[in-house]
Amino acid sequence: MTIEKKCMIPECNRPSAAIREMRGLCMVCYNRAKAKVATGDMTWEVLVELGLCLPNKTTSPFDDAYSRAIDDLELEGTGSD
Ligand SMILES: [Zn+2]
Repeated sequence: MTIEKKCMIPECNRPSAAIREMRGLCMVCYNRAKAKVATGDMTWEVLVELGLCLPNKTTSPFDDAYSRAIDDLELEGTGSD
C-alpha cells in the first residue's frame, strides 16, 4: 500500500514524501512560500487563511493541548461580537 501525498497546490503535481512537515506543500512550493514569509509581507497565518498551506502540524501533545486551550481562552475572552 502506497500512500502518496500530493502538494496541496492544484497547479502543482509534485508528490511530497515529507508533506506533513511541509504544511501540505511539496518542497518546491514550501520554499516559495517560505521565501514570501521571509520578506515580511506575508505570514504563514495569512497563507493558511488563503488556503495556500496548512497550519504547522505539531507532533507534541502539549502543543496541541496548548493551542486548544488558547483557542478556548480567546473564544471566552471575546464574548459576543
Ligand atoms: Zn508544490
